[in-house]
Amino acid sequence: MKTTEKIDIRFPKTLAEALRLQAREETRGKLLAGGTDLMVQWASGVPAPGRATSIWNLPELSSIEIFPGHVEIGAGVTHAFLCDCPQIRAHVPALVAAAATVGAKQIQARGTLGGNAANASPAGDTAPALLVTGGSVVLASLSGTREIPLSQFWTAYRQIAARPDEIIVAFRLPQKGKARERFRKIGTRRAQAISKVMAASRILVEKGIIQSAAIALGSVAPTPVRLGAVESFLAGKSLSPAVIDEAERLAQATVQPIADIRSSAEYRRWASGRLVRDALENL
Ligand SMILES: Cc1cc2nc3c(=O)[nH]c(=O)nc-3n(C[C@H](O)[C@H](O)[C@H](O)COP(=O)(O)OP(=O)(O)OC[C@H]3O[C@@H](n4cnc5c(N)ncnc54)[C@H](O)[C@@H]3O)c2cc1C
Repeated sequence: MKTTEKIDIRFPKTLAEALRLQAREETRGKLLAGGTDLMVQWASGVPAPGRATSIWNLPELSSIEIFPGHVEIGAGVTHAFLCDCPQIRAHVPALVAAAATVGAKQIQARGTLGGNAANASPAGDTAPALLVTGGSVVLASLSGTREIPLSQFWTAYRQIAARPDEIIVAFRLPQKGKARERFRKIGTRRAQAISKVMAASRILVEKGIIQSAAIALGSVAPTPVRLGAVESFLAGKSLSPAVIDEAERLAQATVQPIADIRSSAEYRRWASGRLVRDALENL
């Protein structure tokens, strides 16, 4: 670890205690959940903060609740716990598929859904799967809780719509019902790879007609994105080869990826279209 400064880590026992610490600048610390993003950042030279507030294992952030029509997943739920939850697999299967591709087993045992979302990397695996649910994020502070649609949560590269005194407590996600979900990640390897491009989809087809389509991509823009143009094009269309061809073309025309160490912009654009095709052919 390059950092030699000591970090004063506080370990509140309850959410209320954590919120009290975060409420005032003089006591606020960097929120530390599983630490799998933060520890790597600090080790690689990002200056470590003087104070951190551990929210690891806070009981209020650690549960999964199933309600009629939606599920509520605590921000502190780990990827491993998500993968082991049959109800989440039934109601939000793309999220389970995404959680299963985060790092390897050790990282899944420690990394949390809240940490993945708050880290706000465009390559965060769970973001597209969260986005296609049309759900929301629940944030808490000493002044109470508020809910933000996931579509407004990632505001810019590595930026989220949470105030410094807020903690993400849960994700409120509509169940898929009769729709089908899919998640695909393209990386250099099958495991331990950050994505070049990834896609999640939630599409409802009845009697051969697409009733609704939600498709989101990661690693093609500063934030995870929904493909609104493709979704509008698909709604009401029959699921035919010509429609699939056009959806693929439209996706490739819509995205504006950058080139970086993991991939060229051209490959990302081409693969975006192929992932949309894959989602539709899978139906
Ligand atoms: C070897 C390795 C491989 C990895 N592979 C992948 C991969 O394939 N795909 C992928 O997406 N990620 C990967 N990651 C990144 C990381 O494991 C995940 O993003 C993980 O979900 C982060 O969760 P955490 O609880 O460890 O977050 P932390 O490191 O504790 O925190 C991350 C950020 O979120 C903030 N935060 C955490 N919880 C909250 C909350 N409740 N409210 C508000 N802010 C909060 C923290 O302040 C910090 O800014 C990898 C990491 C490692 C070390």
